[in-house]
Amino acid sequence: MHEIVVNLHMHTRYSDGTGTHKDIAEAALKTGLDAVIVTDHNVLVQGVEGYYRVSRRPSTSLPLRGLRRTSRVLLLVGQEVHDQDRDPQKNHLLVFNANRDVSTLADDPQTLINRVAEAGGLSFIAHPRDPEAPAFNETDISWEAWDVHGYTGIELWNGLSELKTVVPTKIHGAFYAFFPQFIGHSPILETLQRWDDLLADGQRVVAIGGSDAHALHMHMGPLHRVIFPYEFHFRAVNTHVFISQPLTGDVPTDKKMIYEALAVGRCFVGYDLPASTRGFIFKAKGLEQSAIMGEEISAKRGVTLQAHLPTAAEIRLIKDGKTIGIWRDSQACAYSATEPGVYRVEAWKNYLGLKRGWIFSNPIYVR
Ligand SMILES: [Zn+2]
Ligand SMILES: [Zn+2]
Repeated sequence: MHEIVVNLHMHTRYSDGTGTHKDIAEAALKTGLDAVIVTDHNVLVQGVEGYYRVSRRPSTSLPLRGLRRTSRVLLLVGQEVHDQDRDPQKNHLLVFNANRDVSTLADDPQTLINRVAEAGGLSFIAHPRDPEAPAFNETDISWEAWDVHGYTGIELWNGLSELKTVVPTKIHGAFYAFFPQFIGHSPILETLQRWDDLLADGQRVVAIGGSDAHALHMHMGPLHRVIFPYEFHFRAVNTHVFISQPLTGDVPTDKKMIYEALAVGRCFVGYDLPASTRGFIFKAKGLEQSAIMGEEISAKRGVTLQAHLPTAAEIRLIKDGKTIGIWRDSQACAYSATEPGVYRVEAWKNYLGLKRGWIFSNPIYVR
């Protein structure tokens, strides 16, 4: 299995972002990403998917720590679908690989999810909990239609929803615009709880991390600044995906590998700003079988669960929503599982004076 770093969920001028697909590709090349998935609101932009390569003189900006500046990046296009006539605005769904614009189905989330699945696509509930931020006239755009089923997963950590939780006033907003590295703390705890509840209910729900990058322009009196540029987001919350062979450079082949991995949850959410999460693995070994995150393994005769981190952190092992082990300041842990359950790993790291969520793995399903 080969690990690649993917940033997903972002907007261009085709909806409410300010950059172009080319701007995104350049930012991704600078930060050392392998792939990005652009998801404009209610539009499936055609003709921009493909590999983008370094075209200009190498920039002086540094790649993501632990990563090399890459020479090519794969840009894929999905969409973020929601009913624009709905008031208040709720229920945003990220759609990948449906191969057609499905935004006309936005008024009925279940029909939308069903049609995406029938088309061989993937659907993820975007920013499941997304609180209001009255100081910026931003409303609550959480997901409300929790009676739906058949979707691929949820966006466990969304960069913009988290920002909304820390800006009670415009002054806070200005502070974080200049010091965005202080924002990221963890997925919203209610969303984490929701995920555990869905998993405990027997559902397979894949977790991904999204940036929701817009590269917005902020004006405050004489101040003008592009807040949270694409490059910043690409160094922050990423989805690390395990594919069966290294990226080949052939768009259909690579696209298929990425979406197959996301479909089953062979991936983890990594907050790469404190330190690169590249190199993390969560795996299980039984007598005859082995598995990694997103996969299933039989509990018969016991299973050894193992996590490895690229650098030391606090590792937490969670079974069916309950923490069953904590390893402090560790780079690896092992646990002998004899009982069936849904096992997942979190890693927390100290950064800028706070213990912050660093890695959230998808579960291994021990049956
Ligand atoms: Zn949204
Ligand atoms: Zn969005």
